Amino acid sequence: MSRKTDVLVIGSGAAGLTAAYAAAKKGARVKLVCDGMGCLAISGGSIDLLGYDREGNRLANPYDGFAALSPEHPYSIAGAEKTKEALKEFGAALKSKGYELKAGADAGGAPQNTLVPTIMGTLKPTYLYDAAQSPEALVSAKKVLVTSVKGFRECRSRLVIDQLRRYPELENIDFKEKVLPAPFPEYGRSLTALDLAHFADTTRGLEWMREHLRGLGENYDLVLLPPIIGAKASSPVRKEAEEIMKAPFAEMLSLPPGVQGIRLRSALIGLLEDMDVEFYENSQAGNAKIENGICVELESASTNRRVIHKPGTIVAATGGIISGGVSLKQGLVEEAVFGLPIAAPRDVEEWSSKDIFGEHLFSRMGVKTDNNFRPVNNSGEVLINNVFFAGGTLGGYDYAREKSGHGTAIATGWIAGCLAAEEALNNARNQAGAN
Ligand SMILES: Cc1cc2nc3c(=O)[nH]c(=O)nc-3n(C[C@H](O)[C@H](O)[C@H](O)COP(=O)(O)OP(=O)(O)OC[C@H]3O[C@@H](n4cnc5c(N)ncnc54)[C@H](O)[C@@H]3O)c2cc1C
Repeated sequence: MSRKTDVLVIGSGAAGLTAAYAAAKKGARVKLVCDGMGCLAISGGSIDLLGYDREGNRLANPYDGFAALSPEHPYSIAGAEKTKEALKEFGAALKSKGYELKAGADAGGAPQNTLVPTIMGTLKPTYLYDAAQSPEALVSAKKVLVTSVKGFRECRSRLVIDQLRRYPELENIDFKEKVLPAPFPEYGRSLTALDLAHFADTTRGLEWMREHLRGLGENYDLVLLPPIIGAKASSPVRKEAEEIMKAPFAEMLSLPPGVQGIRLRSALIGLLEDMDVEFYENSQAGNAKIENGICVELESASTNRRVIHKPGTIVAATGGIISGGVSLKQGLVEEAVFGLPIAAPRDVEEWSSKDIFGEHLFSRMGVKTDNNFRPVNNSGEVLINNVFFAGGTLGGYDYAREKSGHGTAIATGWIAGCLAAEEALNNARNQAGAN
């Protein structure tokens, strides 16, 4: 069966969802095929832009690091101005779904990374975060209350405090802890952040939060909470929390599944539903038919449904090794949907470093593109003219080391989505004119 589609997006991580929205906003008819939820649902929902330079130095202003990035880095291809524009448009779209992001800024208003604590007591530089929260208050705070919940074993307030005190910029803070009671029995297993966040979205949960968080922050400059205040993009408890506690607050980033990432994902899905984007979930894209450098057909297959798509253009946002966008075989690395070769040493020993926190070549392996994110060979020739790549499938960067995960996914997803829509709509117009 074939259906009329302007843009087919493959992947429902941050890059695919952003690309689908950007393309639909340009007026394209968009379909989205995905065989899983992507990393967004297991991630923290804050948007890392560029936390560290190549030498591992923390960047105060993320854009200050752009000039030193290698030419094949997605930000070098996108450019700082288009990245800023993409993040701005992305933020404006999310706001309409009740999920407002704010960007860190220094006293003069220049962009600035903010250090967000995790429930392991580490600090992570991030750029955009939930506007209801104030992690930026941590570095200037004098008194901070760190909370945990009985039965939620992943978050131990004492451990968080001990770890945070090791950071020179936090050593003068007077940290105190408070363990909140378990809101419901553990039913034979420890509570998760998601259990607690879903509970907060119920009427009983909201009452529980109002009772147990009330006045908690009096005499503190900041309250650190586990990520438990609602799993929805627009959970009312998040908007009330600061007022209830009588202090600014910030949620600590947790282990997967990521409550904050789930909130962000649900806001993005809501946007796509508003734009009538058609979803093919649990469906794997494959069997691409390429004719004269154009992908003319692509199949999506689930256990009970096989569809042949004939889109005008395609955005491939299939993620990296974890999500299956890049496939590793013995001595051979390939882009998984179109079988595009990815340069890699034959000796797999060279793919990783002996230092677990060092630079690993496999992290940077991905599709090489032209300035419009179309795949190219080593001589720079475009391999498939109507396919645009975005996010973790792209090569030339290591998001985990430099802390640029959602930032690169959103910037390249936005740009690829716009380019794919423009090309599909132009071709359709030219075709209509020729007929
Ligand atoms: C545990 C964890 C926590 C993180 N936390 C943060 C954070 O707090 N902030 C931050 O900025 N970054 C974070 N990151 C990094 C960030 O999640 C990723 O860098 C970024 O989201 C990648 O997005 P993506 O859309 O490119 O790919 P992915 O999220 O990997 O999505 C790929 C999509 O493609 C689909 N797919 C693949 N192959 C096919 C196929 N053949 N057919 C159909 N569908 C296919 C997958 O099912 C999936 O939907 C985190 C990453 C992890 C693993």
